[in-house]
Amino acid sequence: MHTYEPPIFELSSPGKIGAALPDAGVPETELPAHLLRDDDLAGLPEISETEVVRHFTRISQRNFCIDTGMYPLGSCTMKYNPKIHEDAARLPGFAFIHPLQAEETVQGALQLTYELQNILAEISGFDQVCLQPAAGAQGEFAGILVFRAYHLDRGDDQRDEVLCPNSAHGTNPATAAMVGFKVVEIATDSRGNVDLADLRAKVGPRTAGLMLTNPNTLGLFDENVHEVAKIVHEAGGLMYGDGANFNAILGIVKPGDVGFDFMHYNLHKTFTTPHGGGGPGCGAVGCKEFLADYLPGPIVALKEGQYTRHTPVKSIGRLKAFKGNFGMFVRAYTYIRMLGAAGLRSVSEHAVLNANYLRVNLDKIYPVAYDRTCMHEVVLQGKIKGAPSVHTLDIAKRLIDFGFHPPTVYFPISVAESIMIEPTETESKRNMDAFIDAMKQIAHEAVENPELLHAAPTTAPVRRLDEATAARRPILKYDQAAIAALLSK
Ligand SMILES: *Cc1c(COP(=O)(O)O)cnc(C)c1O
Repeated sequence: MHTYEPPIFELSSPGKIGAALPDAGVPETELPAHLLRDDDLAGLPEISETEVVRHFTRISQRNFCIDTGMYPLGSCTMKYNPKIHEDAARLPGFAFIHPLQAEETVQGALQLTYELQNILAEISGFDQVCLQPAAGAQGEFAGILVFRAYHLDRGDDQRDEVLCPNSAHGTNPATAAMVGFKVVEIATDSRGNVDLADLRAKVGPRTAGLMLTNPNTLGLFDENVHEVAKIVHEAGGLMYGDGANFNAILGIVKPGDVGFDFMHYNLHKTFTTPHGGGGPGCGAVGCKEFLADYLPGPIVALKEGQYTRHTPVKSIGRLKAFKGNFGMFVRAYTYIRMLGAAGLRSVSEHAVLNANYLRVNLDKIYPVAYDRTCMHEVVLQGKIKGAPSVHTLDIAKRLIDFGFHPPTVYFPISVAESIMIEPTETESKRNMDAFIDAMKQIAHEAVENPELLHAAPTTAPVRRLDEATAARRPILKYDQAAIAALLSK
């Protein structure tokens, strides 16, 4: 049964109004005819302020969010977003500047951008950072375009392959393919590292580069990262670092020191700017000096006491309107300055400690894919002894009934029935204990009453969704007849 929430259009009644506009304060003027509407404004709901507020507040409460509960979605680093960031981003000098304002009137904003570029470069061991890309995937796209530009610029035009370990995030091979490269998959060895023999067999004069997430999507630090980089570099390829998992190694490992040439940062993961519906993202990128000329622009520089923007000479071009998602720079900058160097290191130490706490409390019931100390996330398997009909999907859906957002499931794809859990450093021991109890209770139910799991969730506003139809035939605009047809099923 789906509960029915009347769309705001159905609350409408003619003549109702929820806005009180002030007097214009300027004389009315005639608008040129070509700027006037031809038709009346039709189809908008006529509705009071109370109804609008209740409608949107009610539907907002149907969303699960980090401000209401634990959100252990592996690979996504759903950590708490400190509210002081919102104060900083709303400072009038930041919030009300116009992207086309002259540089000398926005020196403060440019200074913040410049300092954030430098801080990120320092934390990661790179020489130049650009904050333009709006998401991790866009940062990857920038990086692989830079790799291509670099090789072609040297007249090296035979490199048409990008290597991706099979533990890679889906965006890695997708990026390489979008830029026009052939994707070559590399196997994982028995400890969860890149399989060096497979890498040696596949690397060569056609290799433009390798895309590696480290720690990888199995939640493991690749123990052979130096060797991987050496093999790729010796073949003339470049090392791309997917920095989405940077939350595990802040202040401990600098990716630029262990062989990476280029990396993206997810400010909306590691540096606590909101995710998805909470606001736009930022997939900043950093690189070694020899690639800096190809970076997207603009980049902020300091020249004779003035902050100025420039686009590198051989730039791959612009990826985003204006300067990128500036509000996100302010939030990430605030976060880093609040914590300082020691605070950042402590973030990672606690993120790793929390994930291992979950691992040792759950691995007797849910087998671990690779039995070794994990980093900031742990990959379990939804294979409960004595419950052959219960699958990872059932476990994930049942967690909703216990008030938890499900972890990432069926990813990484290299692990059968995978359940990827990332608690982050911002969950307390009490919350993690409640999560462990829920996972143990679910394992018990799986044996005693598997039907309970197959039917889950039972307490959420919607039950199991028909995800295939939702993806193939989505209803994206208000259509009363289509909704009625769905509800009558
Ligand atoms: C989240 C993630 C990405 C993509 O980042 P978006 O900002 O979602 O585009 C890439 N790689 C890994 C490992 C990730 O976890």
